[in-house]
Amino acid sequence: MNVALRRGACPALAAPMATGDGLLARVMAVGTVALDAFAGLCAAARAHGNGVIEITARGSLQVRGLAPESAPLLADAVAAFGIGVAHGIPVAVDPLAGLDPQEMIDAGALATSVCNSLATASIRVAPKASVLIDGGGPLHLDALVADVRLCAQGDGLHVAIGGDAVSATPLGAIALEHATQAVGRLLAVLAGRGPAARARDVIRAEGADPFRRAMAELLIEAPAPAARPSAEPIGIHALRDDRLALGVGLPFGHANALTLEQLVETARQAGAAGVRPAPGRALLIIGIGADAAPSLTAGAERLGLIVESCDPRRRVIACPGAPICSSAQIPARALAPAIAAAVAAWRGTVHVSGCAKGCAHRGAAALTIVGRDGRCDLLADGVPAGNVAVETLLHSIARLAAHREAAHG
Ligand code: SF4
Repeated sequence: MNVALRRGACPALAAPMATGDGLLARVMAVGTVALDAFAGLCAAARAHGNGVIEITARGSLQVRGLAPESAPLLADAVAAFGIGVAHGIPVAVDPLAGLDPQEMIDAGALATSVCNSLATASIRVAPKASVLIDGGGPLHLDALVADVRLCAQGDGLHVAIGGDAVSATPLGAIALEHATQAVGRLLAVLAGRGPAARARDVIRAEGADPFRRAMAELLIEAPAPAARPSAEPIGIHALRDDRLALGVGLPFGHANALTLEQLVETARQAGAAGVRPAPGRALLIIGIGADAAPSLTAGAERLGLIVESCDPRRRVIACPGAPICSSAQIPARALAPAIAAAVAAWRGTVHVSGCAKGCAHRGAAALTIVGRDGRCDLLADGVPAGNVAVETLLHSIARLAAHREAAHG
């Protein structure tokens, strides 16, 4: 068992990462996971881990609380249930790839050929380096950061480097048939700058020229894609076969495996075929009929899952915190439900971080709560707003909200 202890590495299924509650394994499921297989994965998470399943902001499925002896059993279970998993350099695709009637290309099929090509190319890049392929549908990946971004544009792909849709450096467009070649060459630029190099670092130090040179004869001049409305996974999505997908959210990005097994049962009764994790800490239930959507939505809500995009729990982003993470100074995740109930008056994101590292959220927040020496540093709109005991946190939030309300009207 290769137990990856290095923070910043990716906790793949074959190399789970040590955390405060045991080993954490990421299951990079490819395509739709059949309901029986997903129920089996949940049961395996209970049998071999602590029963906590997470879906991250990037849409990765994670199983927590494994032991060195039990982690291989989880991997065996994933294989036995026939869950296809990706290995190697992560290639993210839009969560309805191949099913979305509005997509311009099937990003999943393209990702498979990119992965196969990378597997034979033996390019070694930083553990967190990633590639993203966006098929151009409504559940796009504009908010995700990636070292290499390919986004469907016209009959080709727009290429950008080192960021999300706004912050990445655009290079131009390529023909669809050059995608695999282009990704290989761009990652080779990274690999050539050392085992920890990331695209944004290369851009900062050398600009985009090394990347442009690497694929000069493939590039076609083209503007970056226009800004799109935010992708919203929660709710109903049309599929190609006239069926629907229902997106539900995991509160604060995690759920008990038993809850998800109950969801599978409800989904089965609704005629669903399977599930796909999605960016935004969501799970898409695939293949339901329009008549079954209301009962499935009600069932998911009864299980405590998020079924409305405006659910206040979605505004609170909390890392696992204590005791799950050994660096944590406060129980961030455990505090999150009460904080979500207390921040109704706040507009914008609330970030609860177990320590100053701030793993869960990199952007701005209306309210940031950071654990330090067992207490909470508060920042309102990025400005320090006190240091309070955990026991008085909710009271302090209410006081800050009242001040904010008075100031902003
Ligand atoms: S922010 Fe700190 S406490 Fe939270 S997961 Fe990251 S390292 Fe752990």
